[in-house]
Amino acid sequence: MKMLLNSKWVDRDRKIEVCDPFDNSVIDTIPASDEKDVELALDAAVRGFEITKRMTVYDRAQILYKTAQIINDRLEEFASIIAREGSKTINEARKEASRCVNTIACSAEEAKRILGETISWDSFPGGEKRKGFYYRFPIGVILAITPFNDPLNLVAHKLGPAIAAGNSVILKPATVTPLSAIKLVEAIVEAGFPPMGIQVITGQGSKIGDPLVSDDRVRMISFTGGVEAGKHIVSKAGIKKIGMELGSNSPVIVWKDADMQLAVESCVSGAFWAAGQNCIGVQRLLVHKDIYDEFKTRFVELTKTYKIGDKMKEETNMGPMITETEAKRVEEWVNEAVSRGATVLTGGGRSGALYEPTVLENVPDGVKLHYEEVFGPTVNLYPIDNLDDAIKEANSLPYGLLAAIFTRDVEVAFKAAYELDCGGVMINDSTDYRLDSMPFGGVKYSGLGREGLKFSLQEMTEPKVVCFNLPGI
Ligand code: NAP
Repeated sequence: MKMLLNSKWVDRDRKIEVCDPFDNSVIDTIPASDEKDVELALDAAVRGFEITKRMTVYDRAQILYKTAQIINDRLEEFASIIAREGSKTINEARKEASRCVNTIACSAEEAKRILGETISWDSFPGGEKRKGFYYRFPIGVILAITPFNDPLNLVAHKLGPAIAAGNSVILKPATVTPLSAIKLVEAIVEAGFPPMGIQVITGQGSKIGDPLVSDDRVRMISFTGGVEAGKHIVSKAGIKKIGMELGSNSPVIVWKDADMQLAVESCVSGAFWAAGQNCIGVQRLLVHKDIYDEFKTRFVELTKTYKIGDKMKEETNMGPMITETEAKRVEEWVNEAVSRGATVLTGGGRSGALYEPTVLENVPDGVKLHYEEVFGPTVNLYPIDNLDDAIKEANSLPYGLLAAIFTRDVEVAFKAAYELDCGGVMINDSTDYRLDSMPFGGVKYSGLGREGLKFSLQEMTEPKVVCFNLPGI
């Protein structure tokens, strides 16, 4: 596939292969861009903003509605690209494609709700005779950098609101999964968005990242990815707005009165969705000691039913990790935990990039599987005695995206909701629950700012005050 730069779909002699991680077959290639391409993208994006900032809300919304329609009409095509280039099974990919339709359609709706307020200038002496208001204006060129694990919908979470707000965008998709992102941009252009308003630049973030993020023509960086890359980007960014959607190590508390069936099913799905490569995937399960044995037995039984393998087969529950290197990393982390006393209850095997859904207990505090984001198909069970200890353990790590609790007790639920230190608390769902229009983001190393369309639009616009001095009235 090609990049979109300066209103043209362009290729380069230097290419990067995009491979299916299941069998390593080459699906397509993308251009490996260089610093000249970065300059072309930045220059075109500035010119693109001159066009997009003058587009009416009506036009922006209509283009987004049409984009949503195009994706909906080609849902299966989008789903198979997601499934082939990444880790998701075809069923997981279909869900992502449908969510993308919703993300883009909601962006269109939010475009119509960019609001301002009048200001009471006469609320302080010296303000007499002044009348005025503020309205929210697009901020300019937005650099969107996206990860591999939701290669379509997380791109939509940046392009949809950026377009709704009237900005121009430079998109740098993940190198391993760029194809569905490029397809989305094709749909946006087909729907009528001026191509000068959107640049797609492909290539390694480690090579083209610095000149993009440090350039003063970029007014906002909207980044989703890992903490390490996030920290690097912040160190290079200079004075510009920054949105950071980073990783986590999500805790779920299963209280003694939980609906057992619901908790087991939700947490198994939440632990192994997209082979565990999910920023809100369940990693630490804190289960009340009174129900621990029953929960463990049922959780392990359900995990054992998972079929892993070919992502394109309807019956497959879980596909491979994104690369064999990543699967080997998870294997090492599990081995480290086992060497320090952890017990593998099921799983623990690897074949190429396929790592079995793996459940552990007795995982000690000092191992990576406990304190780092695993971003793989493993989950740790811990028995807990009381709510205070469970909350203390949940809050003990430097992450805080979502947390969850299963309980029927409203006081327990409220205590958890108020005391869990994170961007959102799910009650009677695992952490792997996100509505695309809810405010989404984290505290501590999990991020800065919020996505979720209304909230992204706030981040991607800024208020401008207009004040009339009217001495004659
Ligand atoms: P990653 O390695 O941090 O990469 C994310 C993106 O950043 C890719 O496009 C990557 O480009 C680019 N990048 C890497 N280094 C860069 C640099 N120095 N300058 C500019 N761009 C750079 O993350 P990933 O492995 O794709 O995704 C997994 C991580 O994302 C996990 O930690 C996960 O929790 C997090 N995530 C968070 C959310 C959320 O909403 N909070 C959602 C999904 C995922 P290349 O691909 O070319 O390296």
